[in-house]
Amino acid sequence: DNIALQQLAQKMSLKATDVLMKLIQMGMGGVNINSTLDSDTAKLLASEFGYEVENVAKSDDDMIAEARGAAGAQEDLEARAPIVTVMGHVDHGKTSLLDRIRKANVAAGEAGGITQHIGAYRVDTGKGPIVFLDTPGHEAFTAMRARGAQATDVVVLVVAADDGVMPQTREAINHARAAEVPIIVAVNKIDKPGARPDQIRQELSGLGLQPEDWGGDTLFVNVSALSGENVDVLLENIALQTEIMELQANPAAAAEGVVLEAYLDKGRGVVANVLVQNGTLNQGDLMLAGVALGRIRALTDDRGRRVKNAGPATPVEVLGLPDLPQAGDQFFVVADQKKAQELVDARKKAVAAKAKTTTAKGLEDLYAMMKAGEVQELNLVIKSDVAGSVEALVKALTELSTEKVKVNVIHTGVGGITENDVMLATASKAIIIGFNVRPAGQAAAVAKSEGVEIRQYSIIYEAVDEVKKAMTGLLAPVF
Ligand code: GDP
Repeated sequence: DNIALQQLAQKMSLKATDVLMKLIQMGMGGVNINSTLDSDTAKLLASEFGYEVENVAKSDDDMIAEARGAAGAQEDLEARAPIVTVMGHVDHGKTSLLDRIRKANVAAGEAGGITQHIGAYRVDTGKGPIVFLDTPGHEAFTAMRARGAQATDVVVLVVAADDGVMPQTREAINHARAAEVPIIVAVNKIDKPGARPDQIRQELSGLGLQPEDWGGDTLFVNVSALSGENVDVLLENIALQTEIMELQANPAAAAEGVVLEAYLDKGRGVVANVLVQNGTLNQGDLMLAGVALGRIRALTDDRGRRVKNAGPATPVEVLGLPDLPQAGDQFFVVADQKKAQELVDARKKAVAAKAKTTTAKGLEDLYAMMKAGEVQELNLVIKSDVAGSVEALVKALTELSTEKVKVNVIHTGVGGITENDVMLATASKAIIIGFNVRPAGQAAAVAKSEGVEIRQYSIIYEAVDEVKKAMTGLLAPVF
């Protein structure tokens, strides 16, 4: 078995250049950043960094496939319910809308009619079931994406009709676009005397969200979360939009999905609220989630009812895991306990190693990765002190695109670099360019632990020049 040096470095969460240095120190000649190593060399090299042999040879994905066994077969696809995240500016009514939808669609007097918060809920509409993630906003959405999970089919963008497009409205649009998730606009607070729904349509058109009835392809629905007006129309539109997407899953498969949230409960131990994305999750199944592996003791649905199983697009509360998984961790039902345990051990080790060495998948590595054919796109998040310099930077940097590498600006904003910017950069493997601004709050710490590069500049030319140099392999590394 051969392995590329860069791939090996990646598996150990180390910089390719550091791994190369070690190889040279070990006396290996004729190697460069693009070398492929035989398994003996790879093993020796890995052990220098404190890794065990078998963990280097197999990728996490390979190990998951082995642990799952035949259970992952994809046949008998059936339609599944869409999964929706509600986003928008603070106070525009996200929480009110989620509450309204939930209340209106859980019939009073229904057995177990009291809803329980388990991270998401499923409602029945005339056009079929829809699942809503319970944590509104793009923070949770992006944090999840940063961990490799994509759990949203449609974003409902809430904009208050008496307010208009605000900074978090823009952010939400950028986050949804970066994830390539379609947007439906809910123009909320339509009951208010100051409501100007056409004004909202106008503003959003300027951001590329053209209403259908104006010749565009974005669905807009005027609603009031307060009175409930038109909320049913919104649900119908979500159903319509997602019908075209032909969302499918296989109820017969072993379950897989995503952890929405997890916490430790004094009496019940680890509680994991998960969303089943494919397959059917059963009580008694062996579940692998992040670094947790355990047999499911009990399942509870979003109405607080104990259930024996949960099919595709169903949120469910899981008891029985011995360790705490993280929100955004993907979960799998596995057949081979021994192989799954090996994977968990490898992951725990990787977490410990990562805590020691932080990766910078940044500008410095760009050229090597370009040459290795690993990068065709350079994603950037640009933050600046004033709008004028944002525009200038976006223009100058996107113009650097070549046939080989396309420069994408996935998010811009005025103000300090926030934790949110970092999470978006993590999710989109982007580099953050700060112009006359600095990381705020926990942003720098999160960037360090997630391996996101933040570059700060105060002269536009310098920013452009460095990105250009990085793209041509001329950037001098910073030590
Ligand atoms: P969030 O921050 O986006 O989750 O917004 P909330 O749901 O907390 O709503 C913010 C405020 O707007 C609250 O005082 C709500 O009662 C109010 N609100 C939400 N939706 C409506 C609506 O449709 N009409 C009116 N008049 N007020 C609303």
